[in-house]
Amino acid sequence: MHLHWLTIGGAVEISIQQELEQIRERGLYRKTHLIQGRQSAWVEMDGKKLLLLCSNNYLGLADHPALIEAAVNATTQFGVSSGASRLVSGTMELHERLEAAVARFKHTEAALLFNSGYAANTGIISALAGRGDIIFSDRLNHASIIDGALLSGARLVRYPHNDHNALARLLEKQRGSGRALIVTDGVFSMDGDIAPLRELVGLKAAHGALLMVDDAHGSGVLGEQGRGTAEMLGITEGVDVLMGTFGKALGSYGAYAAVSQELRELLLNRARSFIFSTSLPPSVLAASLAAIELVQSPEGANRREQLRRKSDLFRNSMRSAGFTLPDGATQIVPLVTGQADTTMRFSEMLLDEGVYVQGIRPPTVPAGACRLRFTLMATHGSDDLIWAAERIIAVGRRLGVI
Ligand code: PMP
Repeated sequence: MHLHWLTIGGAVEISIQQELEQIRERGLYRKTHLIQGRQSAWVEMDGKKLLLLCSNNYLGLADHPALIEAAVNATTQFGVSSGASRLVSGTMELHERLEAAVARFKHTEAALLFNSGYAANTGIISALAGRGDIIFSDRLNHASIIDGALLSGARLVRYPHNDHNALARLLEKQRGSGRALIVTDGVFSMDGDIAPLRELVGLKAAHGALLMVDDAHGSGVLGEQGRGTAEMLGITEGVDVLMGTFGKALGSYGAYAAVSQELRELLLNRARSFIFSTSLPPSVLAASLAAIELVQSPEGANRREQLRRKSDLFRNSMRSAGFTLPDGATQIVPLVTGQADTTMRFSEMLLDEGVYVQGIRPPTVPAGACRLRFTLMATHGSDDLIWAAERIIAVGRRLGVI
């Protein structure tokens, strides 16, 4: 009996080792990096100060005093946990207040909270589509959208990136009796470019489809009020599900679907990641409430303006040194470096220089399109960014990338 177990245990161990070896051999091995202290423009790693250029804390709210105070006060008043899922005993005053604030912010009838963007996308998509339905998904959509589509059991049709004409042809060809759901990122996470929402709204109306926009990277950042990609493009209706997250520009954690009252009801009854998971805790809800308020205040507008300026400054410094950057104009600045080994070497050499940026490899991006994904923050100093660009340029020359 003992021998039997040992054999099985041994065999499993070897195959895991082999799998890890294969990941290493392909240059795709991942590990975490420990940040000491707070998430701010400069961080400390292994006792060394680094300029942080790969965080989604775009407005620098993750350590804002108003969010910290809100989280501390909520903990004192309501405790640390919600203790259950929303449909059991885990709906507290702050959940309802935050949902009302999201609906006001996004100009929708209602909103439903999710525990993360990943949970939102998998839950929403598998609730809205199933066997017999078709999901039309931009080829560069976030992994959580793809996972939601796979989980749903619906047919997944991936259309060429931002190509609404190709999508129109696919919609025409694939007409069926089931539901059609078009899903797109608002701002694409790895490229920083923006979806053609106006055209997508037209297509969804013409084909009787539903349209869902994942605005994880646009919310808080784009538009006069920071309402996101739709606001920036002047679109006030036609998006059925506006999904957004609190863990990026809003400096907190969690996610939401801003929707009609009817869709909220459906998601509440059908989205399994909503139904079967302990709801967000009071501290996080209170921080998100403070963030929504802040984003719409003059301070929020000022931070957005700072972020725009810093993004332009960084992009221009990189371009004038000879780096080729795609057209996007958001806070996400991808430098496509090609192969995984060059990309990881670039990232390691920059760490030695005091600049922290992660290399992005498959499956996050297609093979051969590895990149350094620089992300800007409103709280970056202009001189610091100029200094970082110089370091990046020097390392790029050493590596022969420019
Ligand atoms: N959607 C997009 C476009 C994202 O970039 C991310 C996070 N990287 C998510 C969803 C998932 O959000 P969260 O981190 O809150 O799970």
